[in-house]
Amino acid sequence: VVQLVDVTKGFWREKVVIPVLTNTTLHIPRGDFVAVMGPSGSGKSTLLNLCAGLDRPTTGDVIVNNQNLGDLSEAGLSKWRSENLGFVFQNYNLMPVLSALENVELPLLLTPLSRSERRKHAAAALRIVGLEDRADHYPRQLSGGQEQRVSIARALANDPVLLLADEPTGNLDAQSAEEVLALMQSLNEQFGTTIIMVTHDPKAARSAKRLLHLEKGTFVQADIDALEATR
Ligand code: ATP
Ligand code: MG
Repeated sequence: VVQLVDVTKGFWREKVVIPVLTNTTLHIPRGDFVAVMGPSGSGKSTLLNLCAGLDRPTTGDVIVNNQNLGDLSEAGLSKWRSENLGFVFQNYNLMPVLSALENVELPLLLTPLSRSERRKHAAAALRIVGLEDRADHYPRQLSGGQEQRVSIARALANDPVLLLADEPTGNLDAQSAEEVLALMQSLNEQFGTTIIMVTHDPKAARSAKRLLHLEKGTFVQADIDALEATR
């Protein structure tokens, strides 16, 4: 589903380019569940932003679901994201003035779905994460783990081919983290959702099918079973 072909990404800082990703070639097939680990500042979020078309590579191509993101305009990218992508953030990014159901429905406003269809999709997504009974609750009335599950429902509402998650368990206690990880695993197993998950937590990484370690701008396939031994 995701292909990075010879991607380089650098950022300008004080008149010099700081390389973050160098000559990165990566293939993530449909149905994969990849954990990405690496030191702070190594480019993990940059990778997700490139896959989401939120940022463009300096050189090389990012191809998601047969679409070369470089061929799309900014408007084209917004539309493409609303149809193909789900994004989960460490801090949930829920709108405090909207209910759980309204939060999940929000990204569907960018799609051609009618109001009643949007409601139906949003309710179905809340059901998948097990929070249909919290539809009318506001974010402040939810626990952190529930907030993150609402944000996963929001990411699922458009039935995405690709789910990107940037430290989805970073703010959660062990119990809630486990619930969120079990949910991601079941999405991957039941619906075949392709997932790329950035994490600092070796335990979280073990929920994935494989592990990529980002070191000095390149990905190294790492042994996921060796992770626990290092703890
Ligand atoms: P962390 O684990 O702390 O979240 P990360 O691996 O996600 O780190 P990135 O956010 O991808 O790291 O950043 C990689 C490098 O690129 C950092 O040195 C960062 O300062 C730089 N960088 C990221 N985004 C930008 C930007 N928009 N402009 C300039 N530099 C940036
Ligand atoms: Mg990051």
